[in-house]
Amino acid sequence: MLRKIWDLGAVKKTKPDRRQYIVNVMNANCCGCRQCINICHRNVSELTDADETYRIVVKHPERCTGCGKCVATCKHNTLGLASRKAV
Ligand code: SF4
Ligand code: SF4
Repeated sequence: MLRKIWDLGAVKKTKPDRRQYIVNVMNANCCGCRQCINICHRNVSELTDADETYRIVVKHPERCTGCGKCVATCKHNTLGLASRKAV
């Protein structure tokens, strides 16, 4: 039944754009705990310890789906989401 309604064009066929947001590193508070890396299903970010300071780096921004799991897991409020258009 739903299929017939869909075919008739009664159901809007556009899917919501989940990729309108992207992870954004907002400050240098990273402690190197790797929680955000472990929870990310797309291997977007990497941790560096250059100049003996831990820093999270968005290495593969094209892979980010903007799901926000890494943002929610960061205890240091280092990560946020930004509009993909603004980055
Ligand atoms: S950005 Fe946050 S969750 Fe990720 S390694 Fe740094 S402190 Fe941990
Ligand atoms: S927003 Fe989602 S996909 Fe993007 S880096 Fe964070 S956990 Fe990975």
